[in-house]
This record gives sequence, structure tokens and C-alpha cells, in this order.
Amino acid sequence: MTARILVLGGTGEARRLAALLQKRYAVVSSLAGRVSNPALPVGKVRIGGFGGVEGLTVWLRDNDIDAVIDATHPFASTMTASAAEATQRLGLPFVVVRRPPWQPQPGDDWLWVDDIAAVPAVLPGERVFLTTGRTDLAVFADLDAFWFLVRTVDPPRPPLPKRCAVILDRGPYTVDGELALLREHRIDVLVSKNSGGELTAAKLVAARERRLPVVMVRRPPLPPVETVASEQEAVHWLRDVIPDSGAA
Ligand code: NAP
Repeated sequence: MTARILVLGGTGEARRLAALLQKRYAVVSSLAGRVSNPALPVGKVRIGGFGGVEGLTVWLRDNDIDAVIDATHPFASTMTASAAEATQRLGLPFVVVRRPPWQPQPGDDWLWVDDIAAVPAVLPGERVFLTTGRTDLAVFADLDAFWFLVRTVDPPRPPLPKRCAVILDRGPYTVDGELALLREHRIDVLVSKNSGGELTAAKLVAARERRLPVVMVRRPPLPPVETVASEQEAVHWLRDVIPDSGAA
């Protein structure tokens, strides 16, 4: 019988993984439903939360899932924790796909913080390019001394920083495009989550070229689970845990 695989998605890795697995497995991809017009993977897709660990446990059982691959964004830590717990309860194979984090290069001036809440205390300049998404903007709402260029995929909901401009865009971005933004808005400092990957890395190259500091938010810690660094490695992992159906 064809093995049934849940891919927790919302990333390019998850979309590529669904495409790699679809010939040999019955794959369901799951999206959080955070953006209004998401890039969809091939095959079956479900959208929206499961209802915590309990809801996910029930869903996995009801849908006869044989293995779970978590290819969510590195900052989607609640989802990953739920999936680790639910799969452990059910004794299901579980792996997390985590692209390598960005590392500072020669010439970079990165200030590391553990979470978004810690960013305001270390901001080294007045005009800030904020690329951390639309969910944590309340942290910056009362900072009168700063001006923010906020870039999000969908329009952010209040509270927003008092002094800000919002641009709606979705990667991939180019170094030239990022340099133009930094120049046009006279940016002093870039704020980024350490998402890793190529899609949004141009801003780091642009900051380096303009010798701007970057406030870099560290990734939340992973629970003690098996991890792989790419979708190809996840395919190999799946071959090992479900040896009867080799992926294409
Ligand atoms: P989260 O805090 O881990 O997830 C919150 C809840 O959303 C989860 O508990 C789960 O709800 C639901 N959820 C998350 N991912 C899901 C998936 N793939 N399928 C079904 N339900 C899912 O993650 P987040 O709120 O989505 O994002 C946290 C940070 O990651 C944000 O700051 C954002 O910038 C960044 N990020 C996330 C995504 C993404 O696609 N999720 C993409 C880019 C960036 P239940 O508990 O009800 O199951």
C-alpha cells in the first residue's frame, strides 16, 4: 500500500519535497494559511492549524499518516513542537528539514539577539529596514525615536510603528533592488530573522556593500528531533524509515 506522508510546509523546501515525493507516496502538504495568495505545492493541500498537539494527533490518526516531514519556516517553532509531540505519541517517524542558517561574512557587522522583543534595545541607527514579517510589529509600535521601512507579503495589521512606511513584496529579491531600497530610504540598519536560504539573502549582501549594521534574530531552538538540511536528504530519510516505497 502507498505510504501516506504529511509535509508541514510554507517554504520552498516543502514545495520541492512534495514534487519529489508525489510519484511514490500519497503526500498531503499542510500550510498555516498566513498569506492570502500562497505558492501552492503540487498534490493534495490542506490549509490552517490543526488545533495544537491534540488536534494534530487526531488528524494524523484519522488520515492514516505513516510519517511526518516538517519543512516549515525555521521560526515556526510552535508547529514544530506540536509535530514532535504528536508524532512521538503515535510512534510515527518524524524529521525536520532545516536549511543552514546564514553566517556573517567578512565585512559584516551583525548584532545578534535571541528574539524580536530584544531588537529595540540594540538598534544602532534611526532609520530601520524591518524585514521580520508582519506578526511581531507591535514590538516597535511605541518607538518614537525611529523610522521604519516595513516590508511584508500581506498588509500588516495594527499596531504599527508610529513613524513608518510599508512596502508589500515577496521574494526572491535582487541585490540591486535591495541596494536601491537602502539608498532611497536612507536606511541606517537592517533587521532580519536568520531564516537562511537564497530567496531573501540579497538584503544581507546589500547591507554588506553599504557597510550597514544588521540586527540578526537567532533561530528559536529545535526540540530534540532528527533533522536534515535539504529536501533531498529528507527523501533519503524517508527511504530509510519506509523502505518498501522508494521515492523517485
Ligand atoms: P508557529 O508559531 O509555529 O505556528 C502557529 C500555529 O500556526 C501552529 O501552532 C499551527 O496551528 C499553525 N501552523 C503553523 N504552520 C502550519 C502548517 N504548516 N500547517 C498547519 N498549521 C500550521 O508559526 P507561524 O505563526 O506560522 O510563524 C512563526 C514565524 O515564522 C513568523 O514570525 C513568520 O515570520 C515565520 N514564517 C512562517 C511561515 C509559515 O508558512 N508558517 C512562512 C514564513 C515565515 P495549530 O496549533 O492550530 O495546529
